[in-house]
Amino acid sequence: MPLIKCPDCGKSISLYCGKCPYCGRPIPHDVGTAYESAPDRDQPASKINRKKGSVLLIIAFIITFLYVVYSIWYWGGGGSTATNTWEQAGEGIAAAMVMPHLAATFIAGILNFVAMINGNRNLTLACAVLYAVSIFLFPVYFMFTAIQTLLAFIAFARKQ
Ligand SMILES: [Zn+2]
Repeated sequence: MPLIKCPDCGKSISLYCGKCPYCGRPIPHDVGTAYESAPDRDQPASKINRKKGSVLLIIAFIITFLYVVYSIWYWGGGGSTATNTWEQAGEGIAAAMVMPHLAATFIAGILNFVAMINGNRNLTLACAVLYAVSIFLFPVYFMFTAIQTLLAFIAFARKQ
């Protein structure tokens, strides 16, 4: 049960007792309501920051998940527009070039997921670095992992 200090006598009393049992000062019900609805009222700052970081990791993971699913479909032939052998060969080379980038993104996504679940700070950093590496591996596709890189680094910075 949440306790507050009585404004008159300073003793710890329940929010919902109606009046102070020690000095009889009335405690209006809306004091309790305001206290209850105040966000993060009894959490230390570090815990709040960890929570905020987790939200960023969740967003980053969702983007990566969608991107990886799309990539598997696209490079698996779903997005193929090749009409002859030469075009198929071209697509094969393109797929081979983009593969390290996709592999880094995929592993970053896994680290992202684990860090999201257990809130580990080092995993968050590893995930952020790997997202950044995926950009360097195929800079043309930076837009697919740049947001996650940013989110993961902010998430890491907030986990103090
Ligand atoms: Zn009192």
